[in-house]
Amino acid sequence: MSDMLKNAQSQIRFAVNKLGLPEEVYELLKEPQRVIEVSIPVRMDDGTIKTFKGYRAQHNNAVGPYKGGVRFHQSVDLEEVKALSILMTFKCGIVGIPYGGGKGGVTVNPLELSLKELEQLARGYVEKTHKYLGDRIDIPAPDVGSNAQIMSWMLDEYEKISGYQQPGFITGKPISLGGSLGRTQATGVGIVEIAKCYLDKAGKKVEEASAAVQGFGNVGSFTCKSLQDEKIKVIAIAEFYNGKTFAIYKEDGIDIEALMKFRESNKNIAEFEGVEVIDMDVFWTLNVDLLIPAALENAIDGEIAGKVKAKAIIEAANGPTTTEGDRIFKERNVFVSPDILTNAGGVTVSYFEWVQNLYGYSWTEERVLNEAKATMRKAFDNIWNLYKQYNDISMREAAYMYSIKVVADAMKLRGWY
Ligand code: NAD
Repeated sequence: MSDMLKNAQSQIRFAVNKLGLPEEVYELLKEPQRVIEVSIPVRMDDGTIKTFKGYRAQHNNAVGPYKGGVRFHQSVDLEEVKALSILMTFKCGIVGIPYGGGKGGVTVNPLELSLKELEQLARGYVEKTHKYLGDRIDIPAPDVGSNAQIMSWMLDEYEKISGYQQPGFITGKPISLGGSLGRTQATGVGIVEIAKCYLDKAGKKVEEASAAVQGFGNVGSFTCKSLQDEKIKVIAIAEFYNGKTFAIYKEDGIDIEALMKFRESNKNIAEFEGVEVIDMDVFWTLNVDLLIPAALENAIDGEIAGKVKAKAIIEAANGPTTTEGDRIFKERNVFVSPDILTNAGGVTVSYFEWVQNLYGYSWTEERVLNEAKATMRKAFDNIWNLYKQYNDISMREAAYMYSIKVVADAMKLRGWY
């Protein structure tokens, strides 16, 4: 079993025991309620047919319809999708939005496909899974390797099959197809709101705080931008290029907007002017207030966790710390703001997008981001209070306990146990 799935199940186990919930709750939550595996044929540009594996895992719909992204990545497999669907259930519970957890994926490197091939793949995914999707059933969204264009093709395919317009079928759409203002930057804005809540509890002023961010993709770049907007210095960034990770450093803070512009024309951040290139060993052991993994899962293993000098880990990516890494952080008393709390700003604004679609009205960007920030602050306080109340648990354990209680209550009321 994959590390991420084992980790999610052991968190459920811990929370059920600690809360004294009946064993049935663990039994009902340990696996998704449904998993779908499909084979998607694509007519490649060279005339051959290639099939790609696609998955959808639907973890639990006691609170509301399933909700979760569709990942396009070469390492996607059923176990990864299952684990990510479990994380989604609890992420939605933490921010109090009426969704259950879902997740999808296609095993593909999207960069190796032409636009025509990618469009067939996106449409093929919907064609094969549409019976199990819908605005009151399961609502997809973008994830690693997928984007607003892919959501547009998926929406179009779904509406062709169903015969009528249903913008609430999918979120993360372009604005002209019913997307929400603020969605692109929402995850990053939410992450920084959580970082600020932590700094406040730690008694540190934002303008005196520093951060190092791993990953400069959608989440990483907007997290950096939002950190800069809030006057938190981003002194180091690590990003992947050509199969290798490069890290850059600038003591008085990297100019994020300039770096974002630079990345549009040059993919390797190591060539950005005015910064020092540092080894990854140095990057992981920087003496920063906030270390923010915003790339992919399993970035921080036991070895890295043992030498990190940061005061807090703000988990922007999903599952960036291995089970061993997490154990070591707990032992070393390093504060970890867990992924299911930290990056929930994305799904929160996806929820706002769905709400706007269902009643056919759009909100201003200011309203979207202000409501998202307020939701994140409330979620942080709820988890923090539980963390302090028990005193012998980590923030991750508190987060699972809080949201498992939400889902367990809904299952109980429905008579599932
Ligand atoms: P993305 O593909 O846009 O960005 C990931 C970035 O990480 C890429 O730029 C990639 O080059 C970089 N990267 C990969 N391996 C690396 C390494 N070893 N070192 C340094 N950089 C590396 O994906 P994203 O949408 O930014 O998602 C990142 C993470 O956040 C994922 O775990 C995703 O599930 C999670 N997440 C995303 C959202 C969202 O709104 N996009 C919401 C919640 C959680």
